[in-house]
Formats: sequence, C-alpha cells, structure tokens
Amino acid sequence: MNPLHSKLARLCAANGPMTLGEYMHACLADPGHGYYATRDSIAATDGTSATAGDFITAPEVSQMFGELIGVWCVDTWHKLGRPSPFCLAELGPGRGRMMQDMLRAASLDPEFLRSARVVLVETSEKLRAIQASALKPLGHSISWVNSIEALPDMPTLIVANEFLDAIPFRQFVKQGGLWREVGVNFGEDGIAMTALATTVDPALLPEGAASEPEGSVFEYAPAREALAQTLAQRISARKGAILLIDYGHFRSGFGDTFQAVRNHASSDPFSAPGECDLTSHVDFERIASALAAGCDCAVHPSSQGDFLLNLGLLERAGALGAPHPDAVRARIRSEVERLAAPSQMGELFKVLAISCPEIEMAGFDNPN
Ligand code: SAH
Repeated sequence: MNPLHSKLARLCAANGPMTLGEYMHACLADPGHGYYATRDSIAATDGTSATAGDFITAPEVSQMFGELIGVWCVDTWHKLGRPSPFCLAELGPGRGRMMQDMLRAASLDPEFLRSARVVLVETSEKLRAIQASALKPLGHSISWVNSIEALPDMPTLIVANEFLDAIPFRQFVKQGGLWREVGVNFGEDGIAMTALATTVDPALLPEGAASEPEGSVFEYAPAREALAQTLAQRISARKGAILLIDYGHFRSGFGDTFQAVRNHASSDPFSAPGECDLTSHVDFERIASALAAGCDCAVHPSSQGDFLLNLGLLERAGALGAPHPDAVRARIRSEVERLAAPSQMGELFKVLAISCPEIEMAGFDNPN
C-alpha cells in the first residue's frame, strides 16, 4: 500500500466512500503524493532528456505542432488588432515543449513577442522547473500562476493541449433502474468502484437517460465546464481568444471513458493511487456550451487533423524536411501521420476555439 493509498483509506474509513471525482483529484493533485506533483509523466523527445514518461502528447510528437499553434496565435493577435501588451497564456504546459515551439515560430513577428506577457498556468512545482529549463534558452521572460483567476488583467490568448482531460469529472451509473453517482471504496481487498446511495438529480442527465439500459454510464465534468466558462468570460471582458485541444467527442453521450495510463499502456486506476495518469474523454458539446455561455461569440470546432492541415502542416513538413536526407524526411512524414491521420490523433483529438470580438480564425472552415 503506497502512502497515498493509506491516506485515502483512512479518509474513507472516517467519511465513507468518496466520489470518483474526489478520487481522481486526490490521485492527480495531492500536494505530497499526487501524480503531477511527483512524476515526470510526459515522454520527452527533445533529445536533452531520456525521460520515457507514461504517455506522449502532440507537442512531444513533433515540433510542427507547437509551431503551427504559434503561427495561429500570431495570426489571431493581428486579427484582434494587435493589442499590446497582451497575455499569452498556456494551461498545463507539461514539459514546456509547445510554448517553446510556439515562441520560436512567433519570433517571425518581433512585435508580437514584444507585446506578449507569457504566463503558464501550472500547479506542479516539478513540471514548472522542467518548463523553466525548456524555455530559458529563448530569453523571453515567463511567469507562472496556479490558476486562471490569477492571469493578468489584459487581452488574453489562451491555449491548452491535453489540459481539460486532466481535470476531475464525475461518473453516473444506472443501477436497479436508478441513476447513481459512481464512488470509490477502500476495503480489505483493495480499492473498488461502487454506486453511491444517493440518486442523481435528473437535471444533470442528458435526454434519453430514462430509457438507457441497466449499467449505462454518463460522465459529467462540471469543473471543466466552469473553467471553460471562466475563460470565455475573461476574453469577453478583456478581448482575446481561446484554443482548446484534447481527446473527446463532439456530441454528449453515454459511455465509460475513464482511463489510467502508465508506461505507455493502460493500467488499473486503483492499483497504486497517484502513480498513473487518470483521465477521461472531454465532452466538447458541453465545453462549447460553457464557452458560449461565458462569451456571446461563435464557437468553432474542428478535428485536430483538419485543423493542422488547414494551418499548413504539409507545407511545414515539406519545408522542414527539404534540406535533410531520406531518413529524416521519413521521420517527419511519420510525425505528420501521427498528428493528423484519422486512425491516429487526427480524429480522436478535437479543437475548439472562440474569439472576442468575433474574427475569422485560421484553421477552421469559417462561414463566408
Ligand atoms: N499540455 C502538455 C501537458 C499535458 S499533461 C502537453 O501537451 O504535453 C497536463 C498538464 O496540466 C500538466 O502540466 C499538469 O501538471 C497540468 N495540470 C493538471 N491539473 C492542473 C490544474 N488544475 N491547474 C494547473 N495545471 C494543471
């Protein structure tokens, strides 16, 4: 039994089972034993570190990912009227790779860089240190905050990749004809999921919940929705744009997407609390509604593949590979596949963006 397991078991003995959301929060964010506080979770591919990590993310797959997001930011900033100064914020920057590539690409526009106050929203001290060393060579001054509420009061461009999936969510299950919240119990035989006694407020369930079969699962992530709404309120009050990228679905639906990952393989979420990554798919229909509720502007959706191709992924890959031998060009081609092919990250990963005031943002099929 690891120390977090003992701590949670004691809590459970005193208070009874916890919700799945409370369990996820403890596993990821416990200050002493939480996953992000203690582990080097993301695989590094920059050649400066031998970190194998537990999972790999798009910015680590290829420099082209962050570069295209950087170009998107520069373009969006121009269309917003080049506010200066403005806050360039990234939520959950991991190893800092995306911001590194964004800033390098954005150096094409020195005025953008001069105007940008780069702020990283990161709770993990361990990851902050890794981010600082990744970004230091660029010479741009960077600051860190713990929450979006602490971002500076100015026009803001906000980007986030694989951030929402790490925010805790709740799960409801249909049992004996009733919808109940999924909880976590600590017993003699270890940790197990359980259906909690209280029934779920029907207002929290989507249409069709009553006719769903026994055992159906619905996932609800109020903390993700509140975050999206707060971000949208920020740009509504101060102007700016938001770009959110994550794996998930465009339509709310029933199904269990809770997953634990360790050493690049799926793992038991209850075998060693705090030692594996816990996530679920993002319900982008609910996130889009939350964005629209916070800022009365259109929300633009895309698959990651279409978004990157629209931004010029193939052209960038061609330019990057041109001076290099075949082996390097083959590697770049495989990175393009990984990021954009429908069978890889291209379809599962989705992009949502919103701007205030409304502008025609690059990468989306904007209506004319
Ligand atoms: N965007 C990165 C990393 C994704 S992992 C990439 O694509 O590689 C999730 C990141 O979010 C980590 O940096 C983690 O420490 C951070 N994080 C998780 N929950 C957070 C919270 N509530 N507030 C701020 N950062 C958080």
